[in-house]
Amino acid sequence: MRSNAIISSDQAEALVANFADRFRDFAQVAAEAGKATLISRYGRADLAAKANQISIAVSAKDDIDLCYIKMAVAEYFSSAVGPGVVHWSGDGEITSPLPPFFREMRVVLVADVTPQMRRLRLSGRDLHHFAADGLHVRLLFPPKGSPPVWPTLGVDGRIVWPGGADRLTSRVYTIRSRNIERGEIEIDFVLHDHPTHTQSPGASFAEHAQPGDLVGLFAPAGGEIPRAQSLILCGDDTALPAIARILGELPSSAHVRLFIEIDNPECHYELRSGPNIELTYLYRDGRQAGTTRLLSETLSRLEVDNLADDLYFWAGCEFGDFVELRRLARRSWKLPRERHLVVSFWRRGFAEGEAPSADARPASGAKSR
Ligand SMILES: Cc1cc2nc3c(=O)[nH]c(=O)nc-3n(C[C@H](O)[C@H](O)[C@H](O)COP(=O)(O)OP(=O)(O)OC[C@H]3O[C@@H](n4cnc5c(N)ncnc54)[C@H](O)[C@@H]3O)c2cc1C
Repeated sequence: MRSNAIISSDQAEALVANFADRFRDFAQVAAEAGKATLISRYGRADLAAKANQISIAVSAKDDIDLCYIKMAVAEYFSSAVGPGVVHWSGDGEITSPLPPFFREMRVVLVADVTPQMRRLRLSGRDLHHFAADGLHVRLLFPPKGSPPVWPTLGVDGRIVWPGGADRLTSRVYTIRSRNIERGEIEIDFVLHDHPTHTQSPGASFAEHAQPGDLVGLFAPAGGEIPRAQSLILCGDDTALPAIARILGELPSSAHVRLFIEIDNPECHYELRSGPNIELTYLYRDGRQAGTTRLLSETLSRLEVDNLADDLYFWAGCEFGDFVELRRLARRSWKLPRERHLVVSFWRRGFAEGEAPSADARPASGAKSR
């Protein structure tokens, strides 16, 4: 599927160069003399500046991915040039006010999987081309006690969010399991300490969830299964659903070392086991999550010489460990970009999106790849 847009600006060449810089961390980007090409898991965007015009061509395999690419381009030009500057033609015409990557989901089952983790089974319509791909989703929580007003898609491809009393809050989670035929997915929520609903909408939603409750969902929101024969996977409670998904999809020929930080042995989580999987649990023993540095300290003690040549390193954890583990992967282990993914899943003392701007997380957490 393809769409096109033309933007007029006397800064055309500079805007294309800035566009390339803006997306370099999240996609494969090539840029030269007024031209830029971006290739991401969602599709492709080609930009070319000529005189005072930028011509934009985007393409993707389906309407959901096309919508994501158009949204990213429109967000950039709306903030760089001004709102309403992008007018798309071609495929992906808006036929419904709701974005194609949105679904309203209904809680159908609530169950505790550990003393600190609650599983919600969510049911929604037509998940076929929707939640089949990617590990993560963005959940949209309506204000407590009000019927939800969901976001719509603007003509320029950007999301129009409800405001005022209808304001939604959103958080990134992982699809633990899915049954696409039945239209169901399961998500495991860490029940961390939180004083009020407005401060921790994710944990609070899970804590009070009842069958029938509604939640919005954007998918896919990133995350791929690494393809490698030798892996180290590590993370705290929040990364357990992603680690379980990765383990479940790896071939039994892959050798995996797991390092998992949880509070105590009662918080053990069901993970695939086998002769190819070595599991080490690290216990906080009552210390606050995000304060122990158990993961980074343990991993930094591994002998570099004993690491496999084709090692893939994956980590999902609190920001402090993220910083240390990223440094370890890049500087000590010297892993190339394509053989590690270290993601900050949350940051102690900051609600999602409230971290200082220098460290602000993109849609699915601060990443190092
Ligand atoms: C790609 C990705 C996938 C994720 N998958 C999952 C998942 O499957 N399950 C899951 O539970 N989480 C997951 N997370 C983490 C989750 O998004 C964050 O923990 C999020 O902050 C929770 O939102 P909240 O509304 O509960 O708390 P927020 O409103 O964001 O934060 C409120 C306060 O709680 C603290 N806080 C947040 N999370 C924790 C925690 N885990 N332990 C202790 N304190 C915390 C914050 O520091 C802040 O002080 C994922 C994150 C990413 C980036």
